[in-house]
Amino acid sequence: MTTNVLFAANGALWNDYREPLRTALSDAGIDAHLATDISAPEVDYIVYSPGSDVQDFTPFTRCKAVLNLWAGVENITGNDTLTMPLARMVDDGLTRGMVEWVTGHVLRHHLGLDAHILHQDGEWRHDPPPLATDRPVTILGLGALGRACGEALAQLGFPVTGWSRGPKDVPGLTCLHGGDGLSAALERAGILVLLLPHTHETANLMNDARLASLPRGSVILNPGRGALIDDDALLAALDAGHLGHATLDTFRTEPLPPEHPFWAHPQVTVTPHIASETRPASAARVIAENVRRGEAGEPLLHLVDRDRGY
Ligand code: NAP
Repeated sequence: MTTNVLFAANGALWNDYREPLRTALSDAGIDAHLATDISAPEVDYIVYSPGSDVQDFTPFTRCKAVLNLWAGVENITGNDTLTMPLARMVDDGLTRGMVEWVTGHVLRHHLGLDAHILHQDGEWRHDPPPLATDRPVTILGLGALGRACGEALAQLGFPVTGWSRGPKDVPGLTCLHGGDGLSAALERAGILVLLLPHTHETANLMNDARLASLPRGSVILNPGRGALIDDDALLAALDAGHLGHATLDTFRTEPLPPEHPFWAHPQVTVTPHIASETRPASAARVIAENVRRGEAGEPLLHLVDRDRGY
């Protein structure tokens, strides 16, 4: 029997995903009809992204699951018409991209690369950086992305502390959780990496008090979500000299408006939400595996807990 898979992600993605999805569904043994225009009551699975035209899921009466192409789901978890299971994206390509972005930006700040790349002015700045072992890194969020980034940084020698909602045991990392855990994780953060989802609990987590609890001169990297940081508190902490730098990939409003003070601030680096992308070839295999599981009556992978919001 044919399984109808509606590609309802942002239209521009269809060219990138059509062939990888067809191949992956076929390889998973699914007799699939994959299209962008299947009548709603006939749809078995929806491949989704936040920019989709589909905002009302009510007509999709036999749909077994919505399969999100993005890791972040904050734009869809509040949709009351979405009553079927929602799976988010955990993709090896996405994870590896994030590890590369985080490692690169941690090393930029750790090694003080700007001093040599941006200032070739004849001054002999003999100021060697410490070893990684002397630069504690804290990662807020120990999920698919935070854990992989923590493991990569620990491999390079950084003492890595990770913080999550529930207790974790990740070899090579100091794992903390809960309110006391957060205080301890922030107090030691020479470099702080935010890899939390945006939920009602994590919004504005980095407020003025928590920014003040970071060691003087510390650096923040935010490839998580813009709403994790109070923008005004961040600018105040940078202007006061308490923080050394902020490298931001995600923002409350994207694209970041040209007049936003982050663009012109000398201690802020803006990257345009490019830390990591879902990669069509590997992501298609994740989608196909979930369709296979759904058809076989097996539990789906990477299900979102709608109450927790991630
Ligand atoms: P994930 O696997 O769902 O992990 C989320 C982590 O955050 C988990 O460790 C979770 O704790 C922790 N967490 C959530 N709420 C918390 C709370 N209230 N207190 C403490 N810890 C909390 O997510 P992921 O795949 O790693 O992705 C993380 C985020 O990265 C995404 O949500 C998205 O916003 C962002 N992202 C950005 C880009 C980019 O290009 N910039 C690309 C992809 C993703 P538990 O483990 O205890 O549940």
